[in-house]
Amino acid sequence: MSDSNNVSRRSFLQRLGALGVAGVGAGTVLSACGGDDAAPAEDTADADFSCDDLSGLSDQEIQTREQQVQALQYVEETPNPDELCSNCAFWQEPEAGEQCGGCDLFPGPVHPDGWCNSWVAAS
Ligand code: SF4
Repeated sequence: MSDSNNVSRRSFLQRLGALGVAGVGAGTVLSACGGDDAAPAEDTADADFSCDDLSGLSDQEIQTREQQVQALQYVEETPNPDELCSNCAFWQEPEAGEQCGGCDLFPGPVHPDGWCNSWVAAS
């Protein structure tokens, strides 16, 4: 990567920081930009698919999602096999033909094997 790319990337990161976008959000944005040394947005090492396509969301929805994902500590691979997004009260079933569902607490796709700290057993 050239120096100009590094400067541009640094400048971009500084702007993200000024907007309060950090952690998962920055990783997601950098991944979308093709950054080769960006941190992974979420721990998807063991998942056979990912639910990180935010192309259907508005900028406002993406911002809301990133804030909520960070606050709720959402991950695509649950640390507790008994607590999955797919058996959570806030889970939204995937559309026909889709693998990713949704969550009542933030916009965008959610992995059925995911988890966050607001998990509540579905009744
Ligand atoms: S509230 Fe439930 S469905 Fe939503 S991210 Fe958390 S565990 Fe998954």
